[in-house]
Amino acid sequence: MVTNLVNLPHLKPANIYCIGRNYAEHALELNNPIPDDPIIFSKPTSSLLAHNGTVMIPAGCNQVHHEAELVVAIGKHGKDVTHEQAFELIAGIAAGIDVTARDIQSQLKSKSLPWLLAKGLDTFAPVGPFFTDIQHIDYTNLDVTITVNGEQRQNGNTRLMLFPVSDLIVRLSAFFTLQPGDLIYTGTPAGVGPLLDGDTATASVISNGETVSKITVNIRKKR
Ligand code: ZN
Repeated sequence: MVTNLVNLPHLKPANIYCIGRNYAEHALELNNPIPDDPIIFSKPTSSLLAHNGTVMIPAGCNQVHHEAELVVAIGKHGKDVTHEQAFELIAGIAAGIDVTARDIQSQLKSKSLPWLLAKGLDTFAPVGPFFTDIQHIDYTNLDVTITVNGEQRQNGNTRLMLFPVSDLIVRLSAFFTLQPGDLIYTGTPAGVGPLLDGDTATASVISNGETVSKITVNIRKKR
């Protein structure tokens, strides 16, 4: 478990909000409809994992997927914020992986049950060092990529988001008081795929050709 955010040592992780199906091509690759509103779920802080950590796949879980995502760290309290105020809440951005037990999620979805048991397991929320020099970041033009064992699996761009970062902050703050240390996993582009015992995965966020955050994790399956 991560007790503070690397590069943001003054922030203790608070709530972890996640957005589902924020890229149309990813919704379609899993045969899901394109949502009219963001799908919001959360992970417990005990699922956080730092750079060079190990994702532990529990025994009995047979299909785990990587979802490379832009993660936004919130640095200020915010309730009912406007689009103009939204960016002022951001303390940093990082590459993260929304690790997902797809087999468990499929069972839960078929029973219309919450996704927590597929999304919130220990080590299922890797997040990289946060980039804090964000004044000139264009949140609508960030590459979000992942390689597994050196092979590129996902290579998306935040311009393809159905609900852009400012919109996510506005909508989340309408329901929840955003707090310093809250994280938002902003959804994954197309190309999700399996993580297997022994794999090494590296997710990156790239701004204008410059890698601003990168996280590498190893994958182990419990026997
Ligand atoms: Zn996701």
